[in-house]
Amino acid sequence: MNNYCVSRFNCVKTPVRAVKVGDVEIGGGEIVVQSMTNTKTCDVEASVRQCIQLAEAGCRIVRLTAQNLEAARALGDISKKFRAAGFSTPLVADIHFLPETAMEAVEHVEKIRINPGNFTDRQRTDKPGGYSDSEYAAGLERAREKFAPLVRRCKELGRAIRIGTNHGSLSDRIIRRYGDTPEGMVAAAFEFAKMCLDEGFRNFLFSFKSSNTRVMTQAYRLAASKMAAELGGNYPLHLGVTEAGFGIDARIKSSMGIGGLLFDGLGDTIRVSLTEDPVEEIPVAISLARLAEKVRAQKPAAQKPEGIDFYSYSRRECRTVDLGGLRIGAKAVPAAASFGASGCADFCVENGEASLKGGGKIEIRKYGAGDSEKLLADAAKVAAVAAQVRTEDLAGLAVALERAGNVVLIAPPPTGGRHSVGEARMFAATLRELGIGAPIWLKFDKSLSAAPDAGEMALLGEASIYIGSLMADGIGDVASAEISGDPQKDAEYCLAILQGARTRRSKAEYIACPSCGRTLYDIQDAFAKIQAATRHLKDVTIGVMGCIVNGPGEMADADFGYVGGAPGKINLYKNKVCVERNIPQEESIERLVALIKKEGRWTDAPSD
Ligand code: SF4
Repeated sequence: MNNYCVSRFNCVKTPVRAVKVGDVEIGGGEIVVQSMTNTKTCDVEASVRQCIQLAEAGCRIVRLTAQNLEAARALGDISKKFRAAGFSTPLVADIHFLPETAMEAVEHVEKIRINPGNFTDRQRTDKPGGYSDSEYAAGLERAREKFAPLVRRCKELGRAIRIGTNHGSLSDRIIRRYGDTPEGMVAAAFEFAKMCLDEGFRNFLFSFKSSNTRVMTQAYRLAASKMAAELGGNYPLHLGVTEAGFGIDARIKSSMGIGGLLFDGLGDTIRVSLTEDPVEEIPVAISLARLAEKVRAQKPAAQKPEGIDFYSYSRRECRTVDLGGLRIGAKAVPAAASFGASGCADFCVENGEASLKGGGKIEIRKYGAGDSEKLLADAAKVAAVAAQVRTEDLAGLAVALERAGNVVLIAPPPTGGRHSVGEARMFAATLRELGIGAPIWLKFDKSLSAAPDAGEMALLGEASIYIGSLMADGIGDVASAEISGDPQKDAEYCLAILQGARTRRSKAEYIACPSCGRTLYDIQDAFAKIQAATRHLKDVTIGVMGCIVNGPGEMADADFGYVGGAPGKINLYKNKVCVERNIPQEESIERLVALIKKEGRWTDAPSD
């Protein structure tokens, strides 16, 4: 059974020890929305202006980078001016590499974020061999020497600390012992948490971010499953998908990563990272927070064993239905369906049926527990039946469903106090219990929504949570999202959700940082141009990062990297190796395209 949350079938918040950040409580019930400035922190006026814009948009906590002592000192002026303008919104200093900047920043702001991967330890090296136990312990002791004074000062001043690990920026010491894995992310964070506890300091929380929604989901789940046993209690979680990028794709990835965990009752504060004006992050985050608060319940719904490993990915086993060129099931990538004509869906449903490209039809029909004969008769007439069956009716149809062999089951709308994701999980668990091996169609429409009138972007977020959460657990063989009323747009949304869930690629993948005070070039403009030039490269992942300090590490598994090397200058990477340095930004997109061509990864875009 699940041991990382109270219920996987409805949303029951895991109780945590609340943390005070200035006058904001994290873990007290409200999901606190936060963001980060992308101004130069030393530009006090611009930073204060952006803090005000964020606070006025509904941001409850604002983070700023403190990349050196000068920036850490500037936080003092920013805080004074921000308070003088009438805002009590707590400020946070983001620290990488330089513990002394944290010691300065803690004097001025309400919270410090440290990254255990680079607070004192070295980043990933090519040094052969691992760390002996004594070398490992010495590394940990070095970290304690630098971290303990910060913890003591936080305790004296009533500050909070976020211990934030990122996939891609774990230390060499952790990677060699645990790999660049969710286990490593959790182990690194817990080492620093134990140092806090040794100092009698408990005003801390965690984050475990990745640009890969599957990795971040596994890391948060793992941390939640171990926290009470290893740390003596549950501490709040700050949820986020890093380097999610720009536009619709970034909103989809953030919604599925953050929203999926919120639906599981995890998460106390959230940040949606977009490579856009940070103010744009706030409505997306507020929409997710309010949706999760809306589906929260007081007690768990009925539970059932699911037979799923929640900490690693494997696809639910089911038969593969071969429909003359279109394969649906565990041995095929998930199919995308649309309701109405669309050029990019695998099949389009009109008037309750879809004509298949290879001939034959799929018909959508409803069946109750006593409809076995009707189901078998229908299945004999068409290539496949897409059956709408309630969870409680599955037992009555079990024999017919197995005998027919060409039935795809549409996951039903929520009942029994469950949310939409919980209902589909219960549906899959019931199929497993009954030994029914039919593929599952995740058909999102307003009947599944907890906020059906919230508008197109909110529905897209909810569809991303629904399809993304289930795909993360290996559930789902067909997907569709009826959101906008435009079948072509909905099919594109559906394919983007499948890509965000890492189950099907239909275009280039981007890992793009949200930018911050360290950013060395106009990243929003560059990202839009890179996307326009490379979007059609279905098998290529490109990292677009603002600085060389964190960028190369956090590009994770990108094939190519476009990274700020100096003000207005770009370094290009192949995987994690820098292959060209200090290219003027005006030439950089052409040079990136040339690099992709040289590496044999380029194809021309199809003509319209
Ligand atoms: S990678 Fe981007 S967000 Fe991260 S520190 Fe560098 S500029 Fe800031």
